[in-house]
Amino acid sequence: MNLKDYIRVIPDFPEQGISFKDITTLLKDGAMYKKAIDELKELVKHLEIDLIAGPEARGFVVGAPLAYALGVGFIPIRKSGKLPYETIELGYNLEYGKDSLAMHTDAIEKGQKVLIADDLLATGGTISTSVNLVRQLGGDVVGAAFLIELDQLKGRDKLTDVEVFSLLSYE
Ligand code: 5GP
Repeated sequence: MNLKDYIRVIPDFPEQGISFKDITTLLKDGAMYKKAIDELKELVKHLEIDLIAGPEARGFVVGAPLAYALGVGFIPIRKSGKLPYETIELGYNLEYGKDSLAMHTDAIEKGQKVLIADDLLATGGTISTSVNLVRQLGGDVVGAAFLIELDQLKGRDKLTDVEVFSLLSYE
């Protein structure tokens, strides 16, 4: 079995016309979850990485084990209002409405090499906001790693100056 067999595709979730890629069916299988993280590690092992940053919530599920596997630190990128210390925040547009992401102002030391990780790259809004936050804190973004990339939405094009690594792709 390959990794894609463990992704459950749900039509019309969370709304009509969206085909949601459900990773919970992959995560609950220990061997396949490990295989996914091990394969992501292989994809990025040539990079020099000091820290991995992941946006909540599924970015934690991918970013934290990848950080552990690489022996580097993990920093959370959270929705506004969740982090306890001083933060910087950036707003971004969703398909419907707006959202904002935040990081602790002391999360990164100037020049540290940061890999950003999330479960899935769709339009690229979440990750380009994450890239901008990391750069505002003085971090050097060395890449962005995903389990899944939705090719049709061309999120990659929003990340022209960031190298993108993904394990699985869907049209
Ligand atoms: P983007 O900002 O690139 O449009 O959307 C990516 C973000 O939305 C990711 O943080 C991801 O967790 C979530 N997301 C969007 N579509 C899906 C999907 O089909 N499956 C999963 N698992 N997450 C999705």
